[in-house]
Amino acid sequence: MTYLDYNATSPLCEASKRAAEQALAVGGNASSVHRRGRAARALIEDAREQVAALAGAEPAEVVFTSGATEAAALALWGAMEAAADAGKRLTRLFVSAIEHPSILANARRLTERFAGLRLELIPVRADGVADLDALRTLLREGKGRALIALMAANNETGVIQPVGEAAMLAAEAGALLLCDAVQAAGRMPLPRADYVTLSAHKMGGPQGAGALILKTGAPYVPVIAGGGQERGLRAGTENLPGIAGFGAAAAAAAGETADPRWRDRFEADLKKNVPDVRIFGCDSPRLCNTSFFALPKIAAETALMALDLDGVMLSSGSACSSGKVKRSHVLAAMGVSDDVAECALRASFGWSSGEADVEAAVTAITNLVTRLGRRVAA
Ligand code: PLP
Repeated sequence: MTYLDYNATSPLCEASKRAAEQALAVGGNASSVHRRGRAARALIEDAREQVAALAGAEPAEVVFTSGATEAAALALWGAMEAAADAGKRLTRLFVSAIEHPSILANARRLTERFAGLRLELIPVRADGVADLDALRTLLREGKGRALIALMAANNETGVIQPVGEAAMLAAEAGALLLCDAVQAAGRMPLPRADYVTLSAHKMGGPQGAGALILKTGAPYVPVIAGGGQERGLRAGTENLPGIAGFGAAAAAAAGETADPRWRDRFEADLKKNVPDVRIFGCDSPRLCNTSFFALPKIAAETALMALDLDGVMLSSGSACSSGKVKRSHVLAAMGVSDDVAECALRASFGWSSGEADVEAAVTAITNLVTRLGRRVAA
């Protein structure tokens, strides 16, 4: 079997599996005073340090959550509520058109809930990079306190976004900055922002664990109230095995970035065998593990099923909860026509990928194009 869908989820790495199993064996509640509780607390605090080190943050800035979606919701709603409480209402949300739904859907919800809040999409150029000149103009044109959301790297194309420049624009405009660093983690150095979201299962950790990196002093009101866990910033008994596994995965990911050889070999071999393949974002700086491409005239849904029968697991872009292939909003924002976009496939590599995976994937794709390409042409 050839698994090339790391951007959807990564297989659990050995270190993470071991840490999660050890945590399950401890089995205490980190809020308990007795020794089992203290052992659980120690594991969580170790993991906090490991995640902080990966994010270039202080341990006190790490708030453990159930994943990046929850972290994004906490950041967006928490920032809105805090700004309103302080009498400095946010009235403008600038969100890049290629953000993950965890950001886009929450941003849309906020505009339904808070009267006077406007959502403005930051356009994206054909090369997959957010157009910060357009953002600069948007910021100058209007008035009001703003929050900007720009991801570190896109989950579909892998294109790395200019978050450092966005941070400078945010500082000039007195705006807050939220950065979804889910796909960047372990693959490139992580940017700093007022709010950073992370997910364990994209870097070899378990599903159902993640973090909000909440910069010291960033406005925030906890929207989940309860037993006061996570220093009152996110209530709910901590997911001990998930957090311990996350910490171990973060430590492993901090030491090794993904190996660029496999993605580069894959694209070089694919271009040789299928010369009219179109690779999206290939002229931009990209994550070294991600290849997003379209096979001419072969619908992604057909290709995914045929490749799966050959034992090769790819995806059509973002993993959708319905399991259906959805038209990519990322490619639409890049101006890619619908007929090309519906043929888009993503191969994403990770810690267990190797030469055999590249060979199996290229062979299966080449066979598919030979088989179906003939039928399409006939
Ligand atoms: N942000 C990006 C860029 C993602 O790729 C994903 C996962 O698909 C998420 C956020 C959501 O992460 P989680 O599954 O931890 O909620």
